[in-house]
Amino acid sequence: MKKILIITIIIFSFINNIFADEKFWEIFIKWVSYAENILNENYKNFLDKIKSSDSTETLKQEMIISPEMKEKVLKIPSYMFHYIENVPKNTKDKLRYNLSFSPENLEKLMIYLKENNIETITHWDVKEILEWKKAIPQKAIILGFDDWHLDHYTEAFPILKKYWKKWVFFVVSNFASTDPNYMNWEQIRELQAAWNEIWWHSFSHPNLTTVNAKELEKQVIESKKEIEKQIWKPVISFAYPIWKYNETVKKCVEKAYLFARTTKYWWEINPKKLLEIPTLRVTPEFSIKNVWKYFEKKK
Ligand SMILES: [Zn+2]
Repeated sequence: MKKILIITIIIFSFINNIFADEKFWEIFIKWVSYAENILNENYKNFLDKIKSSDSTETLKQEMIISPEMKEKVLKIPSYMFHYIENVPKNTKDKLRYNLSFSPENLEKLMIYLKENNIETITHWDVKEILEWKKAIPQKAIILGFDDWHLDHYTEAFPILKKYWKKWVFFVVSNFASTDPNYMNWEQIRELQAAWNEIWWHSFSHPNLTTVNAKELEKQVIESKKEIEKQIWKPVISFAYPIWKYNETVKKCVEKAYLFARTTKYWWEINPKKLLEIPTLRVTPEFSIKNVWKYFEKKK
């Protein structure tokens, strides 16, 4: 009996050590990623044969939003980050400064969310909430990282991973394939394997209201096929580049996506306006404590 007890304690402490070790989780995520890749192999072949919009079309047909849900307004603020880096305040590059948020502040934000039981979710969760498959969360936000910058992988990912939160990344494929300042496909697959969502953000980040019909299709729908092949998963969300869109752009987006995010300032998701989800811009002066106020805010 004593022997069994000692062996149990040894095994338990061994397992305990493993789970406490960050390295273990890193390896674990890699394995999950490999397993997912194998499972998705069939899906990849499937995608090769069909148009990417068809897969979203099926999801769209399946997504039935009840009249009761349509009347609700979901308090799910969607935050928009750009660069995760330290940019000095006195820099000449004001635009870069305004688009930055430091890794230290990102970590503070993650601690704040944890302490206040604020969940981070993706649009896949929002889909389930709209279908009544998941309860409407008390406190949930969406963390979105625009434009596929390399620092999302090198700076943000290690922090986010530490706190086991979900988040979303917006990808522009043109940048990804040609510029070393942007993530490569292997890195983005790793992000996705860690329970994130990848959104599409057009092929080359143009003002979509000024391009012709053929170019619009390429930017929004045709190029989406490429990323779906790369990440082996349907992409259900779009983010309008440089905050420009009109009815024509929206109609095109509607053909291939369930959700689209604008840069309009607001903190709620209206189930009747899923192609115009508003956002809260994160600047270097962003006050973490303000996250809380949106859950109590009245119109
Ligand atoms: Zn952008």
